[in-house]
Amino acid sequence: MMIKENLYNIKKTLPNNVTLVAVSKTKPVEAIQEAYNEGQRVFGENKVQEMCDKYEVLPKDIEWHMIGHLQRNKVKYMAHFVDLIHGVESLKLLQEINKQAQKHQRIIKCLLQIKIAEEDSKFGMSKEEAMEILNLEELQRLENISIVGVMGMATFTDDEEQIRKEFKTLKIIFDELNQSIINTYQLKIISMGMSGDYQIAVEEGSTMVRVGSSIFGIRNYAG
Ligand SMILES: *Cc1c(COP(=O)(O)O)cnc(C)c1O
Repeated sequence: MMIKENLYNIKKTLPNNVTLVAVSKTKPVEAIQEAYNEGQRVFGENKVQEMCDKYEVLPKDIEWHMIGHLQRNKVKYMAHFVDLIHGVESLKLLQEINKQAQKHQRIIKCLLQIKIAEEDSKFGMSKEEAMEILNLEELQRLENISIVGVMGMATFTDDEEQIRKEFKTLKIIFDELNQSIINTYQLKIISMGMSGDYQIAVEEGSTMVRVGSSIFGIRNYAG
């Protein structure tokens, strides 16, 4: 496996303020352990069950990120350990995350997923919806969640300019949200960029990239 070399090559191109989430979905625990041995501590998964299984057997100082589309009834299975949930796109989901985090006396960090791609297949909310949630009085009472930023996925295309335009849009939305928030929230994280486009994302202001296949090799399914 080339995991060590891949990690090294990616990390040397990333500015210090950009967090690398190693996306390990579909990959065996041995691959995660290998990346861990090279100092990687942040891993991303898109299926709750798979993440729980891996959490059980791997070192406990790993920071687990849920990056996939999340169903409300699955939150409870990971509430005792998940660090950051990337794809939050409704108040109802925030309420459920808060409820489950409370049971474990934890604070779970969340990112609001914003729809920036032109593709209809991508999830996410509009800037207006995000603004509405961030300014809800009720948010102050959800003491076991912390909304720390936004997440977005660009259109799956070879057109670099299209991708760049979408990342620019997310950065602008991030700035506008921060200016509009009356609650005590301060957004810090912009999660954007994957194997194929993380360099563009970093140029456009990403502070967190989610890289899978460039570290662990191609996956057997599109996941
Ligand atoms: C799978 C996945 C990634 C990583 O994709 P790669 O192209 O393998 O880097 C990033 N973000 C999300 C939301 C994903 O589902």
